[in-house]
Amino acid sequence: FPIERIRNFSIIAHIDHGKSTLADRLLELTGTIGKDSHEAQMLDRLQVERERGITVKAQTATLVYNYQGIDYLLNLIDTPGHVDFSFEVSRSLAACQGVILLVDANQGVQAQTVANFFLAFSKNLTIVPVMNKIDLKNADPESVGIQMKNIFEFEPKDILRISAKTGLNVDSVLQSIVERIPPPKNCDIAKPFRALLFDSWYDRYRGVIAVIAVIDGVIRSGDSISAKHTGKSYEIKDLGILRPNEVSLPCIQAGQVGYVVCNMRSSTEAKVGDTLFKKGLVNVEEVASFRQSKPMVFAGVYPMDQSETPALRSALEKLTLNDSSVTVAKESSAALGQGWRLGFLGLLHMEVFNQRLEQEYGAEVIVTVPSVPYKIQLHGEKNIKKYGAREIVVNNPAFFPDPSIIEQYFEPMVLGTIITPDIYMGPIMSLALDRRGVQVDSKNVDSSRVMMQFKFPLNEIAVDFYDALKSLSSGYASFDYEEDGFEASDIVKLHIMLNGEVVEELSTVVHVSKARKYGKEICLRLQETIPRQMFQVAIQATVGGKVVARENVAALRKDVTAKCYGGDISRRMKLLKRQAEGKKRMKSIANIELPRDTFIKVLKR
Ligand code: GDP
Ligand code: MG
Repeated sequence: FPIERIRNFSIIAHIDHGKSTLADRLLELTGTIGKDSHEAQMLDRLQVERERGITVKAQTATLVYNYQGIDYLLNLIDTPGHVDFSFEVSRSLAACQGVILLVDANQGVQAQTVANFFLAFSKNLTIVPVMNKIDLKNADPESVGIQMKNIFEFEPKDILRISAKTGLNVDSVLQSIVERIPPPKNCDIAKPFRALLFDSWYDRYRGVIAVIAVIDGVIRSGDSISAKHTGKSYEIKDLGILRPNEVSLPCIQAGQVGYVVCNMRSSTEAKVGDTLFKKGLVNVEEVASFRQSKPMVFAGVYPMDQSETPALRSALEKLTLNDSSVTVAKESSAALGQGWRLGFLGLLHMEVFNQRLEQEYGAEVIVTVPSVPYKIQLHGEKNIKKYGAREIVVNNPAFFPDPSIIEQYFEPMVLGTIITPDIYMGPIMSLALDRRGVQVDSKNVDSSRVMMQFKFPLNEIAVDFYDALKSLSSGYASFDYEEDGFEASDIVKLHIMLNGEVVEELSTVVHVSKARKYGKEICLRLQETIPRQMFQVAIQATVGGKVVARENVAALRKDVTAKCYGGDISRRMKLLKRQAEGKKRMKSIANIELPRDTFIKVLKR
């Protein structure tokens, strides 16, 4: 295939607007998969994707489409359906020249539509606007057309109207891909091999499968290649195209998208965004500027029972083999035992990962309240030397330096986009203010809906913001966010004390304005879960030595064995033995016996 007859494109859309359905229909129409293959939604492979109806891992398929008597090679690059994975969306888009922007003709433009549009727009991609689900009785193509004009400046005549479900007009999508999207640019088949690695996964039998967009030259089985970023070299064992399953070919060439298998041992070796090239070439120009994905949400993961530690370890190893964007570090807590601290790209990423952990490995795990990375500026030359830098990044509240050596804290910010019917504007505004949001923009989407944008501290939306928004708006508001740098902030460490002794694993960091409220919450939760002791237990939350919240657990008076009426001595012994066994699983703080449960209940999300 000459380069002029190749098109590389993605479909971007808000969740449920029909991306997977359209992808299936395109595969069917081009004979890539059979019509009656009841394998609905070929491109959503993972169980959690099927269950949630969202795409987590980008997947790719090559289609052959005959346009006016000439065959074209169309590479559909499926992107994840959520901007939480904007890193994956972004790298997939680096392999494309255009996108199909899909909008539900009933729901209209939503928050993810906006976020995805700007991602594609900023990369100068050709955008083909498509309105889907026009078969629905309550579809309103006219007003959705107005929304697309108001927000994205699309002319109604350029917007395709289709039904991915019934197949109506889907052929016009294929035609527009050929007509409107340009062929791959800056490709040269005469030059030595060079390609962008934009996705990878781990296959149990074949090892790492890397998906590449070939920019220059040709690649064949047996060729030797090198990776720019890792500096490692490999021999190609197998290569080919994805339809969407692997079809082995003798070679792939400039402009094409395909897979290579080359003895990469783990997916961390297949750095997404890396440039692969013919071994021996020097001064190779990178295809895309390489950026390592960086985790923004962290949480501790512990087995429910310590005996399950090895099983959890192997489950984590297998899952991270396939998702190299998750970072893993060992962590141990006196209360919860041996565990791991995992870093995720965003909130949905974390949820999806945990769900896979449970579904695919049956691992019962405790996930702690998520935290975000803070940048901390230190003062004093001695301290700077000790930590190795003036500015350090701390992912775990337990590792915060002493406040006395801290010059300034910086917390990660996001730009949040909310689209909602205007009747919910008031309550949403209050919610946003409560979460320390600062409004940056507000705009009418059409006569009854608005788009509001806020700058939020990531920490404030990390726990239950999305649920709160959904319930305030009866499910009608949509939300998405993108990273927006770090800002100076008044962060304090909130200590929890039991009878005057600090319990490090319950301590946390919060904005100064939230210390009292959060401290109160933890104290109340502890009061509920700490069993009564022979003496009173004082639960205190403190900031810099000052008490901000306090609760008590009243003393227990009765002897536990009293109910045995002293009669049955063996029963009495049994009870005492059981208590002793129970104690082994307890942690003693300030003479208070705390079951592991207490920590789980307080630390869990
Ligand atoms: P995705 O999240 O964007 O991948 O959306 P899906 O392709 O999973 O579709 C979400 C839901 O919308 C599914 O129940 C589809 O059957 C339905 N759907 C998709 N396209 C159409 C369409 O053109 N008409 C109708 N009526 N339903 C559709
Ligand atoms: Mg989908």
